[in-house]
Amino acid sequence: MGGILVVAEVRDGKLFSGTLSAVQFAQQVGQQTGAAFDIFVAGSNIGSIAEELSYYGAKKVLVEDNPVFAHYLAPGFAASVAAAAKQLGSSYVAGTATTFGKDLLPRVAVRLGAGMASEVTEIVGTRNGRLVFKRPMWAGNIVGHVVVNTDVVVVSVRGTDFDKAVKLANRSEVVPFTGGGANTRVQQRFISFEQTASERPDLTEAAVVVAGGRGLKDGPNFFKIMEPLADSLNAAIGASRAAVDAGFCPNDLQVGQTGKVVAPQLYVAVAISGAIQHLAGMKNSKTIVAINKDKEAPIFQIADYGLVGDAFKVVPELADAIKRARS
Ligand SMILES: Cc1cc2nc3c(=O)[nH]c(=O)nc-3n(C[C@H](O)[C@H](O)[C@H](O)COP(=O)(O)OP(=O)(O)OC[C@H]3O[C@@H](n4cnc5c(N)ncnc54)[C@H](O)[C@@H]3O)c2cc1C
Repeated sequence: MGGILVVAEVRDGKLFSGTLSAVQFAQQVGQQTGAAFDIFVAGSNIGSIAEELSYYGAKKVLVEDNPVFAHYLAPGFAASVAAAAKQLGSSYVAGTATTFGKDLLPRVAVRLGAGMASEVTEIVGTRNGRLVFKRPMWAGNIVGHVVVNTDVVVVSVRGTDFDKAVKLANRSEVVPFTGGGANTRVQQRFISFEQTASERPDLTEAAVVVAGGRGLKDGPNFFKIMEPLADSLNAAIGASRAAVDAGFCPNDLQVGQTGKVVAPQLYVAVAISGAIQHLAGMKNSKTIVAINKDKEAPIFQIADYGLVGDAFKVVPELADAIKRARS
């Protein structure tokens, strides 16, 4: 059996910390199979990121440092990752189940003729010499056990379900690599990337998330109620799909089956009913607080703490009380 290749994600010129969950996954595959893992990173001017990645126990860190990779473009990245996996003879290619991984990894799988397991949350064990992965299906209502039968297996890893790998004292070898992704036959050109500027923590990384729903009536009310609460807890702001679809807030705030998956220490759901598609994105949160004026709202069934009341009255009071308690 070959090794595992972890694809590192670079965001805004920095290593995205979710990569370390994919490294943790690779370490666990190694424990089950005895295989070693390598890391591939592509970007522009990424010497310090490669250096950072060399302290997590990889056999090698392959670095494709080229101005062409300054911005993520699927065809080139996929070609280079596949070339790296072929050169190393990797049996597994793993990355994060983020927008980057969701876009990149299926293309890598096609290039390698590999089967893919998406959003893996656990390695359950082995069956007939193959790894068995756990992954949610049907908005998390079914937990599937998946065995992939191809020679090479591509996996996207849910960062919320694997701890981040710990930095080690020993340094891995860092090797420059050219995978041909800079010269693919597909014409690729970066035009622009419109990023929402926010002082708040990243939604998928935040220790505290406060999320608002359709019950907040409209956009101005959504932010009037949610921002002071988020400020009081240094939280990221999330939203239900109904709030996004109604135009209260941008869709990068959406939590759920078709939004982001979060598992913070604390999740506060404000005026959110608790539809299964919403729960699919937040039910692994450590502590869930629900605020809803309807005491029968399904969100209370999974909440650790519930507050029945009108959000327009109780949330500002709660935010004030938290601010007072913290000052
Ligand atoms: C294929 C598919 C994918 C989907 N993906 C997602 C997804 O990713 N994320 C997601 O969230 N949804 C998703 N949905 C939609 C989901 O089914 C629900 O429609 C949605 O989550 C409901 O959002 P909500 O709870 O904000 O709105 P509602 O269900 O309308 O609930 C509003 C809640 O606010 C409460 N409320 C009203 N006024 C107040 C007040 N003044 N104070 C306190 N409480 C108040 C009400 O009691 C109610 O419980 C998906 C649906 C489908 C079919």
